[in-house]
Amino acid sequence: MKKPIFVIQKHDATTLHYDFRIEVDGVLKSWAVPKGPSLNPKDKRLAIMTTDHKMSYAKFEGVIPKGEYGAGTVMIWDKGTYKNIKEKDGKIVPIKKCLKDGSIEFFLDGKKLKGGFALVKMKNSDKNWLLIKMKDEFADARRNLVSSEPKSAVTNRTLKEIEKAAK
Ligand code: MN
Repeated sequence: MKKPIFVIQKHDATTLHYDFRIEVDGVLKSWAVPKGPSLNPKDKRLAIMTTDHKMSYAKFEGVIPKGEYGAGTVMIWDKGTYKNIKEKDGKIVPIKKCLKDGSIEFFLDGKKLKGGFALVKMKNSDKNWLLIKMKDEFADARRNLVSSEPKSAVTNRTLKEIEKAAK
């Protein structure tokens, strides 16, 4: 079976954020992460669930025109595949059940991000989740990838360069 994909799109809209998307049953389940992912297991990054996107959107890098939903510049900040690693009683919990239960664990194999991450739904909230790096060999409290790796994982462009090219 083909591995499901993930993509993180850096999105310079009303406010800069990182759209974290994972493939589930032919659509991209999506969360907006204002601060972006962290490699430090002590960080809990707010991840606000947003609308599902079409699979084809994972390949989009460019500018969404003014007046349209999500207007602003979009960069493919990271991309790759993921593996569902959420277990219960020694068995992998199907990803759809993880989504419903509000507790997802996956291993990312991206260009920038590697290793285990958890997405955990906050209690008493319908769309606020937390994105947390799991403790493993890829965890790193000192490296801040969001600032040290600001460019596109596909074209190596900055947001400004993507914006210019669309004009
Ligand atoms: Mn967005």
